Amino acid sequence: MTEQQIQKPSGTDDILPSQQRFWKYIQDKVSKRLESLSFSKIETPIFENKDIFLRSVGPSSDIVQKELFLVKGSSLGGEADLVLRPEATAGIVRAFVENGMFSWPLPVKFYYFGPMFRYNRPQAGRLREFWQFGAEVFGEDDPATDALVILVLWQIFTDLKLQNKVVLEINTLGDKNCQGKIKKTLSKYFDQYRQYLCPDCLQRLTLNPLRILDCKVQKCQTIVASAPQIVDLICDECKEHFKDILESLDDLQIPYDLNPKLVRGLDYYTRTTFEIRDKEDTGRQSALAGGGRYDNLVEQYSGRQVPAIGFAAGVERIIEKLKTYQLADPPSKKIDIFVIQLGPRARKKILPIISQLSSWNFNVNAALGKESLKSQLRTADRFGAGVALIMGQREAIDNTIIVRNMHDGGQETVDLNKLQKVILEHLKDINKKKVK
Ligand code: AMP
Repeated sequence: MTEQQIQKPSGTDDILPSQQRFWKYIQDKVSKRLESLSFSKIETPIFENKDIFLRSVGPSSDIVQKELFLVKGSSLGGEADLVLRPEATAGIVRAFVENGMFSWPLPVKFYYFGPMFRYNRPQAGRLREFWQFGAEVFGEDDPATDALVILVLWQIFTDLKLQNKVVLEINTLGDKNCQGKIKKTLSKYFDQYRQYLCPDCLQRLTLNPLRILDCKVQKCQTIVASAPQIVDLICDECKEHFKDILESLDDLQIPYDLNPKLVRGLDYYTRTTFEIRDKEDTGRQSALAGGGRYDNLVEQYSGRQVPAIGFAAGVERIIEKLKTYQLADPPSKKIDIFVIQLGPRARKKILPIISQLSSWNFNVNAALGKESLKSQLRTADRFGAGVALIMGQREAIDNTIIVRNMHDGGQETVDLNKLQKVILEHLKDINKKKVK
């Protein structure tokens, strides 16, 4: 094997043990918050039929145009028709339809936490495999539901102590009817400047002119600056819907910025769109979370109209912020007990003791291949163990074990049936000293 073959693929990351605590920290906060509001966890396959994303995310999105990971199974042959999921909403809508959730009591509320895949050019903050958590609500089109979904997302950022570091941006795109009118008007407007548009926007002009609004290319932005405003093109009902959401956010004291150019990268959004980004960071990868309403997606899959709204947040980008702002850096977990054995008889006898310690809910480790006391003690120290248990030949015969307090080096020989009590006393004592 060449050195190159044993490197991880570009745009991926190993989540090493030292990083797991950040992941667990976020996952715990997310599930606690969402479950308290009756969102249930859903897991859909990592790969889906390509058509699921073509129909939903849409042909004008970068995801479908450039970023789909095709899966070529050996039995598939020919053109691949499976793709690694670039986002979760499409798969969840597919699951909603396939499992007949129309008949479930509405609203149906889901949340998820898992890896997504986009074949983009890797750079800081942009991976090819990255994790998202998110939530979806099916069956409600009232603006109060939009406000509730934004509230949940805001609460999660608050739980992570990031609420003062981020800004919430919000916009409306109008419903299906309004979008027809908006696209027509924008098309007419941008068509006058077609020779100045970037190649991507030229394509967007035919596929979805709304997407030109959030193009980051300078010359496109200049043209966008004088483009007709969405808010002037939407119907009164959509205006009212948006106004109601903003009023609820005011009542909830959730600060927001109106961003009339926030269209987001996916084609399925109707009415509300929103994003949370770092206040200080104006870069292209500054979005930490985004979402919106997608009232026609279920209909596109099933012919049945079910309004829905959701959000997705990027776990790696949030962890980066927690580190940058030194927020809630969760302490690394040290082990309670390191078990040391000396000689073959002790090694045999130590396994049931390890099993017992784990049943007592201690955090326990051992280096069973090691022989000498010195090297095992050194390992116990490196693991930061509070207590070391030492079993030699003699202890193995006597049904005893030596308990060593790793903080002050004190040792005592203890009868095995008193072991739990003695360990607890030592750990309590060590913790007390640490607090002082
Ligand atoms: P999106 O589905 O594109 O709206 O993404 C939702 C969130 O996922 C973004 O706000 C980012 O935090 C995160 N995200 C999206 N794409 C990537 C990527 N390629 N690498 C890392 N995080 C990403």
